[in-house]
Amino acid sequence: FNVPAARNEPVKNYAPGSPERAELKAAIAEARSKVLDIPQYIGSEEVFSGNKKRISPPHDHQHTLGYFHEGTAEDVKNAIDEALKARSQWSSLNWEQRAAIFLKAADLIAGPYHAEINAATMLGQSKNAYQAEIDSACEIIDFLRLNVNFMREIYEGQPVSSDGVWNRMEYRALEGFVFAITPFNFTAIAGNLPAAPALMGNVVLWKPAFTQVYSANVIMKVFKEAGLPDGVINMILVDGPAAGDIVFNHSEFAGVHFTGSTKVFQTIWKTIGDNISNYKSFPRIVGETGGKDFVLAHKSADPKAVVTGLIRGAFEYQGQKCSAASRAYIPSNIWEEVKAQMLVDLEEIKMGGVEDFGNFVNAVIDEKSFDKIASYITDAQNSPEAKIIAGGAFDKIKGYFVQPTIIEAAKPDYVTLCEEIFGPVLTVYIYDEDKFEEIIDIIDKTSPYALTGAVFSKDRYAIQYATDKLVNSAGNFYINDKPTGAVVGQQPFGGARASGTNDKAGSILNLLRWVSPRAIKETL
Ligand code: GLU
Repeated sequence: FNVPAARNEPVKNYAPGSPERAELKAAIAEARSKVLDIPQYIGSEEVFSGNKKRISPPHDHQHTLGYFHEGTAEDVKNAIDEALKARSQWSSLNWEQRAAIFLKAADLIAGPYHAEINAATMLGQSKNAYQAEIDSACEIIDFLRLNVNFMREIYEGQPVSSDGVWNRMEYRALEGFVFAITPFNFTAIAGNLPAAPALMGNVVLWKPAFTQVYSANVIMKVFKEAGLPDGVINMILVDGPAAGDIVFNHSEFAGVHFTGSTKVFQTIWKTIGDNISNYKSFPRIVGETGGKDFVLAHKSADPKAVVTGLIRGAFEYQGQKCSAASRAYIPSNIWEEVKAQMLVDLEEIKMGGVEDFGNFVNAVIDEKSFDKIASYITDAQNSPEAKIIAGGAFDKIKGYFVQPTIIEAAKPDYVTLCEEIFGPVLTVYIYDEDKFEEIIDIIDKTSPYALTGAVFSKDRYAIQYATDKLVNSAGNFYINDKPTGAVVGQQPFGGARASGTNDKAGSILNLLRWVSPRAIKETL
């Protein structure tokens, strides 16, 4: 059980004048000058349906980056057939052979595909260079490499034997195929959701979000180049409900690996429940869904640290992270200082396209998302219970731009303190500095989610109190840090309640969901 050492990929900073900055700029210029033509990948075929859908940068929606070929229900059926055909050979391959493919894929992304995957994420998903570097290049490399180490840990887990009896545990792949449904916001999650079950010997249908097809295609090319056999991961570009109709009705459906909205996950779960007697096995249902992630400052907190946590936690990638800081509870004694510093910092933040590396904030993903965010801001502008204290402007003429916005809410149950917005909108509630216990109770009760949360404090008793009382309010809990930016292998990621099944992406716990162990007893 010898595998290459697990280590996190070093993050490049793209400093002005650096060779990596020049290389990335060149990759962006090249990408903007060509026209993509992205197929589905089904078995050994690249399927060009002819039903072309335009791909454009969210920050420059009149520009055409290219097209992808949308598929049909027939393609989903074919993809399932191809996956099932590939299953027996793939699942009986030695684990080292499967691991080698994904380690090779990690090396390809770390090397020759590094600039391309970042350029695709930047242009296709409107993400700045630094955010793309963290979550497309480095995080997917980390998922691929570290998962091989977690796989080893699983296989090493063997039962006790005794004289005359040899007990063994065989970690088989699931019987059937796995369906990976992936989000637009993290290229690394999009790649990991099909890769993790495939690493464990499963065959997969992968349905990326239509808004992430550009970088998904780079990942698919990498998997192929790394030697992934045909049919092991099939990328279908079919609308979710249409694909779901076929997949969730199939007797060999063995599991779903999902990241997306709570509502869609609930629908999937119900559909699986309705079909439960038609499946060969009980399917694995693994999902990471929404969040309404909190930042709680204690009266002893360092105001500067709170401001950094809020600005980065709420506004990096336009707040389009499940983990984004979207509600903050600030004690009255430090509020004026926190507010003044946030306003100064926001003045310095530039918004615009990803091509200018000086822009911290780019566009939100699409018009639907823009309209939803804008309606929360407009409601706040008109509500006596809310006051916009920063930002509040939005326009979609060239791209879907929403200014980083801070709302001060008068009541702890104001709508933007409770509902997920998935945009650059932070709502702050100012509490009486001596009512720390009370505010913790409110945090726990005003949102159905439990993904991430942070407490800022210099008082160790307060830290312990918050950690204890908020035990079920966040699957990833941060002390004196922003609630975003979990690193694979360092902070396994996921939450419970309405935030998902908490199967911790980037850990042994997630991989365990993709095996069906067989215990073998042999009498010697
Ligand atoms: N893992 C990411 C983080 O820690 C969030 C993932 C997501 O948005 O789904 O910020």
